[in-house]
Amino acid sequence: MLATLPLLKNIKFPTINRDNLEILQVNLGYLCNQQCLHCHVNASPSRTEIMSHETCEQIINYLHHNSIKILDLTGGAPELNPNFRYLVETVRKMGIHIIDRCNLTVLSLAEQSDLADFLTDNQVEIIASLPCYLEDNVDKQRGKGVFKSSIVGLQQLNSLGYGQKNSNLKLNLIFNPQGSVLPAPQTTLEIDYKKFLKEKYNIVFNQLYTICNMPIKRFGSTLISNKQFDEYLQLLQQAHNDNNLNTVMCRNLVSVDWQGYLYDCDFNQMLGLALFWHSLEKRHISELNNMNLTNNPITVAGHCYACTAGQGSSCGGALS
Ligand code: SF4
Ligand code: SF4
Repeated sequence: MLATLPLLKNIKFPTINRDNLEILQVNLGYLCNQQCLHCHVNASPSRTEIMSHETCEQIINYLHHNSIKILDLTGGAPELNPNFRYLVETVRKMGIHIIDRCNLTVLSLAEQSDLADFLTDNQVEIIASLPCYLEDNVDKQRGKGVFKSSIVGLQQLNSLGYGQKNSNLKLNLIFNPQGSVLPAPQTTLEIDYKKFLKEKYNIVFNQLYTICNMPIKRFGSTLISNKQFDEYLQLLQQAHNDNNLNTVMCRNLVSVDWQGYLYDCDFNQMLGLALFWHSLEKRHISELNNMNLTNNPITVAGHCYACTAGQGSSCGGALS
């Protein structure tokens, strides 16, 4: 795996500061049943990093004492962590909105046959990656058979009420480009997705979120191997839109890794860039109760242009 961080650190990015903290995004581990080319985590079936029960308890303790609005669970495949259901059930009882970043194929695993019912019972919002509505493109990025399995997962979720009109069960999809280009406009792409998936597979969903590929980890290494890294960074920099700086997700989110350490976002987590600018010492969820992050500077580098290029990009899709 070729390292992108030294290259990214040499690229200047405008200073940005934090607003009030509203979202805790927790990475439950890097284990995944897939091994996608565009993965910014390097997740795979062979990864062993998994959040422990003790760290989950520290997260619950933090949520008990603070007014966080959303718990956003990611991975890997977060559902493969044996503590996933305990965490969801406990936090749900606290009235906090929960998002599960689900890869859809996990719903088809034999040992997860009751997962969709569990998510429904706990009113968990699902944000699922489907980088194209065409089978060949999805399988090329995410592995053979992933598209068909994703369609089965979406149909199962629809049958339980997810994505349906007037339902509280939200189902949002994520699009990311096939390679080193910017995403197409979110609003027009959403219309295409909705039309195609409804007509061909009778699938409905709430919103499509477009996300720009991050030049880090597996995708970053592929760019370096293909000698496209500099060209892609130039494309992102040239498309930078200052207005997106006001709404990048790191302003109101903190990312927690599988050991409980804190970062400004999941991308910084993957690069090992700690929460405080120039801080060599990692901060832990057990310390977060005593920190006031508002107005603190965010740790930035060249990869941040993937969040501000063109229409902007975040875990909740386009920014402008
Ligand atoms: S992109 Fe998602 S589904 Fe694919 S390997 Fe990474 S974490 Fe797993
Ligand atoms: S990569 Fe992370 S720190 Fe940089 S702008 Fe995006 S969300 Fe913020």
